[in-house]
Amino acid sequence: MTARIIDGKAIAAGVRAETAVRAGRLASAGTVPGLAVVIVGEDAASRVYVRSKAQACEAAGMRSWVHAMPADTPLDRLVAFVHELNLDPGVHGILVQLPLPGRLDARRVIEAIDPAKDVDGFHYQNVGALVVGDPAFYPCTPWGVMKMLEHEGVAIDGAHAVVVGRSTIVGKPMALMLLNAGATVTICHSRTRDLAAQTRQADILVAAAGRARMIGADMVKPGATVIDVGINRLPDGTLCGDVDYAPVAEVAGCITPVPGGVGPMTIAMLLANTVRSAERAAGFALAAGETRIA
Ligand code: NAD
Repeated sequence: MTARIIDGKAIAAGVRAETAVRAGRLASAGTVPGLAVVIVGEDAASRVYVRSKAQACEAAGMRSWVHAMPADTPLDRLVAFVHELNLDPGVHGILVQLPLPGRLDARRVIEAIDPAKDVDGFHYQNVGALVVGDPAFYPCTPWGVMKMLEHEGVAIDGAHAVVVGRSTIVGKPMALMLLNAGATVTICHSRTRDLAAQTRQADILVAAAGRARMIGADMVKPGATVIDVGINRLPDGTLCGDVDYAPVAEVAGCITPVPGGVGPMTIAMLLANTVRSAERAAGFALAAGETRIA
């Protein structure tokens, strides 16, 4: 069997196009959706991510601001700045780029964000609401995975989903979204015994461990949907996922590549969340027949 490739770039382009239409409609009514990104310190990878988020906003007809603060910014100053953004009516989404420099308590900063502007979906209020099933915002990466599954017509209700990874930003919310959508969910992590025995049960396998090519073909059920969230840099500088792509593609029913899979969806869902936030602020309801993109 050769798996169908799930084209994350194309699906993300569709989400971004829909987001741009909605941003245009809001702008005509006097509200330009705006995303404020706060970055602290000099981490080179974070700076690249932040720049690409800002460019994507502008390409979708939205405003974006990158607030770069020095690594020695005191926690109180950072929290006060987030409070200022909360009060700014032109800002509909606030994102604090993680990780923060070591001594800063990221949780304190996230909790300072108004949950109605928490487009990353990391505030306790949104995390708690996700458990119940209806947060203001879903975390972008797992929400992007759900959009891919929907786009590909993958049946979630009744399926057995296995998520490898239990982080707060990917694994746990991913498992909750799949559970809320009717899957039977197994969460695996670094302490799981006999990982392969678990992953072989999966109709839908989501790999989010950050371990290069750890999912081999012998760990995948024939015909399974394999979603690779991992992004790992190999010694030669190339990127690869957590899934050993070529052999697994011979077994899986469909599979996401790295790069070009989940990665582009993350930014697309961030834009979608920001537009949704602006729609709420402007009192826009969804039009008839329109699906919830965020
Ligand atoms: P993390 O390090 O916070 O969590 C990794 C999880 O994997 C942990 O729960 C750990 O228990 C588990 N794990 C580690 N080794 C394991 C093993 N050998 N067997 C089973 N489980 C194991 O990472 P994260 O922030 O959740 O990110 C995971 C990966 O996804 C990384 O490669 C990251 O770069 C990538 N990522 C991609 C996107 C995207 O947009 N595509 C977004 C976020 C993260």
